[in-house]
Amino acid sequence: MRLFAATIATETNTFSPLPTSIEGYRESVFLRPGEHPDEAPLMCTAPLLVARRRAKAEGFTLIEGSCFAACPAGTTNRQDYEFMRDEILAQLKAALPVDGVLLGLHGAMVAHGYDDVEGDILERVRALAGPKAVIGVELDPHCHLTLKRVRLADVIVLYKEFPHTDVVERAEDVLDIVLKTLRGQARPAMSLYDCRQIGTYPTTLPLMRGFVDKIKAMEGKDGVLSISIGHCFPYADVPELGGRILVVMNGDKVKGDALARRIGEEFVSMRGKTMPNYLGVDEAITAAVAANETPVVMADPADNAGGGAPSDNTTILRRLIERQVTDAAVGPIWDPVAVRLCFDAGLGAELPLRFGGKIGPRSAAPIDATVKVTALARDCWQSFGPAKVALGDCAAVRVGGVEVALITKRNQALGLELFTNLGIDPRAKKLVVVKSTNHFMAAFGPIAKRVLYVESDGPLSRDFRKIPYTKVMRPIWPLDERTEPGLIL
Ligand SMILES: [Zn+2]
Repeated sequence: MRLFAATIATETNTFSPLPTSIEGYRESVFLRPGEHPDEAPLMCTAPLLVARRRAKAEGFTLIEGSCFAACPAGTTNRQDYEFMRDEILAQLKAALPVDGVLLGLHGAMVAHGYDDVEGDILERVRALAGPKAVIGVELDPHCHLTLKRVRLADVIVLYKEFPHTDVVERAEDVLDIVLKTLRGQARPAMSLYDCRQIGTYPTTLPLMRGFVDKIKAMEGKDGVLSISIGHCFPYADVPELGGRILVVMNGDKVKGDALARRIGEEFVSMRGKTMPNYLGVDEAITAAVAANETPVVMADPADNAGGGAPSDNTTILRRLIERQVTDAAVGPIWDPVAVRLCFDAGLGAELPLRFGGKIGPRSAAPIDATVKVTALARDCWQSFGPAKVALGDCAAVRVGGVEVALITKRNQALGLELFTNLGIDPRAKKLVVVKSTNHFMAAFGPIAKRVLYVESDGPLSRDFRKIPYTKVMRPIWPLDERTEPGLIL
């Protein structure tokens, strides 16, 4: 039995002011066959790593392809996407014949000329591997679950958790179902329900937590191989954006359709009830300052690099400085130039520094302040579950009572190392401001005495009606009041 595995992934915010080229992939994940480290998966590479670990025991040969992944930003340029895609396709062609293909994709990648990158890849992989090959795909729930890709794959499984702490488990699920199918123990049939809605669904909040636990309990019984909840990725102008439910049933498509419809209708009934309460910037600062128990962790989802934002919006930081808040830490601010200036000034230096507020109008104005360089560290990283995420060279500067973590490799706040690398102990702070939508909860949730979500003026607006979509299929909630959810496959 021969399986081929590869990854090409990013989450494309088509409204982001940051273009994505091959350099973005080189900076994050750019591994040729055999180069993937053994320890832990990188962004979207879990299917390959899980297959490598299990190949011998399960009696199959794994042929490894390349793994390419970039931190979320704007649309990937066409020639770079085609270069990476064609490299993987050439590896697959050389590996033929194969019985199965495992793809670690994100599911919300857009390249110039390709609104549905994953559909394009699957079409070409299917053409090469043939109709009998079993194609298994792992996607992020912040994906566009297009009809094309569901028709072309045999099995698609999305992570269930947000924060995405179950990336490895779901890759195991994909491999399990692919192997069962190849051994004649399963005949996966996929049913897709389109909920016609845009939303945010952290699984750390009670309603979504209960929903995910409920579908997990259904799997592995009554022929249910897998159930996935497609949250959607709101910051992309692509036709098939929106929440969808995918059921993978063993054999019985009619039964799968009924289940997808039932779960889909429940997901529709949850509209407007799954998002946290977002406070205004000053309202949140006032609440944090008044808190008896600390640290308070304040999230700035509107400037989340994980959604393609620059992570250099200065609005919350500016208000902290103006209001003379003390014992606070803010991070990450992505500003490679400012980091360079701090290294040049040296540890302990005091200097007038301009930082943040550079990339676009939604970055707000840069901060101009006399700062003290309190820490400098080369080649930093932070943890996200088992994964290590690079932050590049980092600097900490103090402005009044606020310490700021400046980074060179753009990423959202995931692990405490973002601060501890720079000698800042987030547990000992009164207020910790993190740029992240909800992934920060994996590490910062356990240390926070209180979590506040803020709606700043960063680029990722929580009010989806304000996003200037032109291609998204209508009607869709909350842009439209009346919608027609239903089974589409
Ligand atoms: Zn995601």
